Amino acid sequence: MTLAIFLSALAMTLIVGVRYLLASGGFALATRFRHPDLYAGLDRQIRREIGWSLASAAIYGVPAGIVAWGWQNHGWTRIYTDLHAFPLWYLPLSVLLYLLAHDAWFYWTHRWMHRPALFRRMHAVHHASRPPTAWAAMSFHPWEAVTGAVVIPALVFLIPIHVGALGLVLTIMTVMGVTNHMGWEIWPRFVWQGPLGAWLITASHHQRHHEQYGCNFGLYFRHWDRLCGTDKGLGAFDRGHAAAGRRRALAE
Ligand SMILES: [Zn+2]
Ligand SMILES: [Zn+2]
Repeated sequence: MTLAIFLSALAMTLIVGVRYLLASGGFALATRFRHPDLYAGLDRQIRREIGWSLASAAIYGVPAGIVAWGWQNHGWTRIYTDLHAFPLWYLPLSVLLYLLAHDAWFYWTHRWMHRPALFRRMHAVHHASRPPTAWAAMSFHPWEAVTGAVVIPALVFLIPIHVGALGLVLTIMTVMGVTNHMGWEIWPRFVWQGPLGAWLITASHHQRHHEQYGCNFGLYFRHWDRLCGTDKGLGAFDRGHAAAGRRRALAE
């Protein structure tokens, strides 16, 4: 039994690790086509980002692996496979509930990690990326990775979700994690500058968090930031680019 749990955790670690490498690698490649010099001079930082991210993948794999094992062998969790176990309208609702719950957890733990004593111990690793790149999506100190790793494994015990909808939640989580750190917007302007962008977080919003630290703590949605007065609007990417330029000049 211990071996089965270990193997399940190992499999999950590999899945999370490979998912990270494919998603970040894919968007890093897209960045190279779209903005060829954006990550110039950041090779050392990117190596650090990949190292921390792979360590995070190992941490994410443990609770995910234990829960997956319990789901398969003991019927743990409220994950269901019969599409009609709940009404069809519940499918999109369940996805939204997961995103809202994850966002609330992220907002408050993230704010908490910005308290000076905790910042140094838990969150400085993530902010060492200046400016962040597509590889920074999972660049967390192990303690911060623990706070992120428990969310979905805990939610599957609380909120019923179809296994396919759960896959969609994990895909949204991965894509948003990468694109919000990428240093440019992949969404059309009407998304992030229009009424939708007033409530949804994209790269411009999270960029400002990496510039100013004390604001824009949210993950997917802006309502917690807006409610708590921590929303400072959208950031500009040129400052991040300028920093990269400076680093480049220093290296030459
Ligand atoms: Zn970030
Ligand atoms: Zn932060």
